[in-house]
Amino acid sequence: MIENPSCPVCDGHSWRELGRQSYAKGETGLPDGVAQRYRILFETWAPGTERFVARYVLCAGCGLVIYAPRPTAEEVAAKYAALGGASSTTVHNPTVTTTDRTRSAELFAAVADRVAGRAVRVLDFGGGTGSLMVRFVEAGLQCSVVDYAPETIAGVEKLATTIAEVPAERRFDLVIASHVLEHVTDPVAVVRELAGRLSRQGTLYVELPLELAGRIPRRREPLTHINFFAEPSTRALLERAGLVVDACWTEAVTHAGGTYSLSVRAIAHAPSDDGEASAIATAWPDAAREVEALIRMPLAGRIAFGLQHPKLLVNPLRRVVRR
Ligand SMILES: [Zn+2]
Repeated sequence: MIENPSCPVCDGHSWRELGRQSYAKGETGLPDGVAQRYRILFETWAPGTERFVARYVLCAGCGLVIYAPRPTAEEVAAKYAALGGASSTTVHNPTVTTTDRTRSAELFAAVADRVAGRAVRVLDFGGGTGSLMVRFVEAGLQCSVVDYAPETIAGVEKLATTIAEVPAERRFDLVIASHVLEHVTDPVAVVRELAGRLSRQGTLYVELPLELAGRIPRRREPLTHINFFAEPSTRALLERAGLVVDACWTEAVTHAGGTYSLSVRAIAHAPSDDGEASAIATAWPDAAREVEALIRMPLAGRIAFGLQHPKLLVNPLRRVVRR
């Protein structure tokens, strides 16, 4: 693990500590999935320790929140290797649930004006079985996924396991990275790679969980998410990767579990000429202050924030009726 990491978005070294969370090796009564991740944490990431303390830190340069010590790319790869076979990526004969349909319709609505009336090739990067594409398939679009999942739903082509394996000539009018970039050690490199697969005037859609509204991330285990974005840091990520941000907003979105949770959604494109390219921001002087204000929202601010996202109030009902 890296004790003093540089910022994976802006390369900065100026961090402000927000708080700590500690995980004890001997903790009992954990759900299976959490216990499995604890084993990887104490056997592979931090062997020989009895307690792992995650220091949550805010980047002064771009507003990204991570924790330190930070896992290396090799440690994250070792985590996936250890989890392989135990996760949902081995689903056979994948089906589409009601929740999948809802999530797909919400995503389709978010990008509808980008795909309307055009023959669109869509790539869902890290899209599992392709279930998030069901609405796009019904709209007659050509849908592909890049993922470790061996099988996809009807109408979705599994193109490759990693983006590097996708044939060089393949281009896409819409590339989706939904709930992917919070897991990777080098999100800028991943966005650049995806941007390189866009057709002329192609669109990149990014969605990330917002875990910073009125709090620092409270994760049950530190292995699953390693980057914590808000709107300013999402913009910085896309701009750092050389893209023009068309829109970036926060919305209550249906989560895989069936309830609404807050997500940051963004739409970007590759610059069409030098003028557009030179207008892309290379510094984000207000980002850290904005993210810190979000995290440290007072109660009145949280109430106002909640009123802006009334769908969150539906969650108690959704917990009852979800499937
Ligand atoms: Zn940064």
